Amino acid sequence: MGRRPVPALIALVALYGPFILGAFETTVFKTPSGATLELTFRSWQPGEAILARLTDRPPGLQTIIRFLGRTYPLDAKEIPGAGLAFIGLDLSLKPGRYEFEVEDRSDAGGPVSQKRSVEIQPKAFPRKKLTVKDEYVFYPPEAEERIRREAELLARIYEIRIPQWLGEGGFEPPHPGRALPNFGELRIFNGVPRSPHSGVDVEAGANEIVRAANAGTVVLAADLYLSGNTVVIDHGLGLFTNYCHFSRILVTSGDAVRKGDPIGRVGSTGRSTGPHLHWGVRIFEARVDPDSILGFRF
Ligand SMILES: [Zn+2]
Repeated sequence: MGRRPVPALIALVALYGPFILGAFETTVFKTPSGATLELTFRSWQPGEAILARLTDRPPGLQTIIRFLGRTYPLDAKEIPGAGLAFIGLDLSLKPGRYEFEVEDRSDAGGPVSQKRSVEIQPKAFPRKKLTVKDEYVFYPPEAEERIRREAELLARIYEIRIPQWLGEGGFEPPHPGRALPNFGELRIFNGVPRSPHSGVDVEAGANEIVRAANAGTVVLAADLYLSGNTVVIDHGLGLFTNYCHFSRILVTSGDAVRKGDPIGRVGSTGRSTGPHLHWGVRIFEARVDPDSILGFRF
């Protein structure tokens, strides 16, 4: 399942795949009850997203994936997104072997489960050392409380799972500008390491339109201390996109947006040194590279 499949998987991989879709590959195997589970990914590395899709599902079967302490139900109900799950490998995930469990439950019998081990390969993120004025290294004391409160608010938002998939096909970049290769970048300001960069910065001119990367529900449209005017869209199944530093927000919390709808204008609000779009993707709390979801097809 990783770059080096574990021995138990080699025969299955030889039978079914992997086949390559650009930089993305899909591994196909059978769950304990004989349903087909496809896993699509670029790699099993920190900061990557994995798309799980259950096909050929016997009626009444409920499949659950357990991985990294989280449970991902592949819903059997006939709702949009039935049989789909997104799994996020947070950018700070430690490389090593982890247990990946697939459990089937059916009306006919109790749960049957299968465990595999998955190896998370290391990833070298860019590092940047900067010497800047102290005001860019330390936040003013009065801001600390606001930053803490806003981080808690975001953490609560990213824990909510809508059981339907709200997207319309695959994801599209929210702006045509070049995305800098700075996802996961570790910034060391005056010798003090900051949190790693949780998204990509897209080159964009002031006030240019930014569009929803996919359909979903706006769950946050607010001015935050660090990310300025920020929009978060919930696409369902625990997958969220966020867009920061807008000069103007064009949507309101609760709005349903279609893919490509204008949601804001490029700006430099919050902790930003000039107009650009910061674009991020969350799968629950996991910070993943937006590029790692762009190849998913539904
Ligand atoms: Zn950024």
